[in-house]
Amino acid sequence: MPARRSLDRYRAKRDFTHTPEPQGGRPPAQSPRAYCIQKHLATALHYDLRLEHRGVLLSWAVPKGPSLDPAQKRLAMQVEDHPYDYRTFEGTIPSGYGAGVVLLWDEGVWQPLDPDVDAALAKGELKFLILGKKLKGEWVLVRTGGRGGDGRGWLWIKHRDAYVQTASITEALPGSVHDGADFAAILARTPRDQWPPARSGTGEAPSLLRAAMAAAARPPAPAAAGRGAPRAGRTASRPRRSARRVSSR
Ligand code: MN
Repeated sequence: MPARRSLDRYRAKRDFTHTPEPQGGRPPAQSPRAYCIQKHLATALHYDLRLEHRGVLLSWAVPKGPSLDPAQKRLAMQVEDHPYDYRTFEGTIPSGYGAGVVLLWDEGVWQPLDPDVDAALAKGELKFLILGKKLKGEWVLVRTGGRGGDGRGWLWIKHRDAYVQTASITEALPGSVHDGADFAAILARTPRDQWPPARSGTGEAPSLLRAAMAAAARPPAPAAAGRGAPRAGRTASRPRRSARRVSSR
């Protein structure tokens, strides 16, 4: 399917005068296939897995995020293809579809283990390699579909290899792949008029968003307090930047 057609749903859902999200983009010739995961605090917190294929990013929303434990099968709902330029997007979506905060959680390249990706997708079983900064090794996406299913439901599972671990990678490495930024830090560097609206409610996502906004809005501690450089994130969730500095390119 041509990239232009496959982005129709993506574009129909968005008003580009009101969102900073990318509208298009094309991969350079002969580049390896791009891979990324965005951690997206919207109506629910989820992780968006994106795999470049035919010039666009195949996309799955994964409520619990990836697990390096083969016993943890993660539900992955396939969503509309996203434009190639989305692979580097990090920031806020102030309103409309997906309104919230987007953190670029991992990036790199991927490789199908069967050369015919279209056939693998049609069959409902895509085996692939991820070479990211956080995720590596072999994975599989298996369509759960079944009778009455709409074909959007998949399970995302780690294969057994040298990269298996039972500890939670999303808890160990929660921040942006670039600089460890958390949602509060991303809000803090975004003009207020580009922030999404705070939501009421006691659910996980509204609570996380309110907490991130409160932390981002907090004025820097005065130097006299002797607390060092001003910071945006909360102490509890602030990544150890020095320990995991990652170059962006
Ligand atoms: Mn999303």
